Amino acid sequence: MPYPIPNRLVRPLVRTLSPYTPGEQPKVKGLVKLNTNENPYPPSPKVLRAVRAAVDGRLRLYPNPTADRLREKLARFHGCSPENIIVGNGSDELLEMAVRCFVEPVAEPHSSNRAGPTRSKHARHPANHIVQYFTPSYSLYPVLADMHGAIKNPVPLNSDFTLPTLPALKRGRLWNFNAALTFVTSPNAPSGRGYSTAELEALCRAQRGVILLDEAYAEFADEHALSLALRYPHVIVSRTFSKAYSLCFLRVGYFIAHPDLIRALHKIRDSYNVNGLGQIAAETTLDDIEYYRRNFAKIISTRDWLTGQLTTLGFKVVPSQTNFVFAMPPHTCNTSLDPGNRRRARMPDAKDWFLRLRDHKILVRWFDQPVVRDYLRITVGTPAQARHLVNVIRKILVAR
Ligand SMILES: *Cc1c(COP(=O)(O)O)cnc(C)c1O
Repeated sequence: MPYPIPNRLVRPLVRTLSPYTPGEQPKVKGLVKLNTNENPYPPSPKVLRAVRAAVDGRLRLYPNPTADRLREKLARFHGCSPENIIVGNGSDELLEMAVRCFVEPVAEPHSSNRAGPTRSKHARHPANHIVQYFTPSYSLYPVLADMHGAIKNPVPLNSDFTLPTLPALKRGRLWNFNAALTFVTSPNAPSGRGYSTAELEALCRAQRGVILLDEAYAEFADEHALSLALRYPHVIVSRTFSKAYSLCFLRVGYFIAHPDLIRALHKIRDSYNVNGLGQIAAETTLDDIEYYRRNFAKIISTRDWLTGQLTTLGFKVVPSQTNFVFAMPPHTCNTSLDPGNRRRARMPDAKDWFLRLRDHKILVRWFDQPVVRDYLRITVGTPAQARHLVNVIRKILVAR
């Protein structure tokens, strides 16, 4: 009896998936890494000490399954109750859990009967199958929807990446006010745009499914919408220790929402989903919040300096409320009015800029997708890194 063909053992849905593409983490000496929105500043000395002190024989023990101390501290920090909070192995884990918790997958097509267009884009699907999000926004959402066998409803933002108004969403007829789960990245990635709490609240009030405000970058913004999660039963706010608190490596994120939603999420959580060192690091972070507030201020001031410099050099920069900027290089801007001209002039587009910067050992992010492929997403580093970037860009511009 021959063994089965391995691929045949994989669910049809999984066979067709394309995985999320994370930013590269190359090990190149002297590389200026501005591609994954990591914080350029290390965690506070207190946090490093606490983590080091925890590395001993206790590593053999399981961590607290529900991150109780961390949830208590977070509850005090945000003025809510621990019942409003669930902690995850990074907020990415929680985003995936939200899809599983609130969205009904469509029945998987029978493998013998796969020819029919069982999931035609245009078929009207019941709202309980729908994962909805604006485009462009965090590119993980469609991946999570596909993994689960949910129906995606991507709805374009305005061309300047601002949020469409409620009347515009109603007129546009694409938006589904009953979608089981709606993701709103706020401030947005990769555009960097912030949305006002007032416009988010209007959207939340119109929505009948769960609406998840992914506030991964809130600490770099003028305002945040955490209060909405405590005022509305269907609003979840997602936060992470990765970006603002320099803890990407340890993977800690959390949701704030109505206790009933949080209880439901706990039911589908892995028993020990948050590692012990991550819990300790996050708890200690909250004891040293002033250190981090100084870093936010530094990053914001570097961001604003970088925005000014890039603008002077002819880049079109989207106003940023995050720790990165989304910038259209000069020649893309000039020729985007006349695509034919771009070919003739053979001026570098955003991808060429990405490659040229990489030749200079500066790594930024370029997305090969409609609308965003004319832009570079550049993480705000230290002032020295930002100055270096600007100097290299100047050199590239002169060389042409
Ligand atoms: C980075 C990021 C996350 C994920 O953060 P982790 O907590 O590290 O998983 C979630 N949402 C957005 C928009 C992000 O940029």
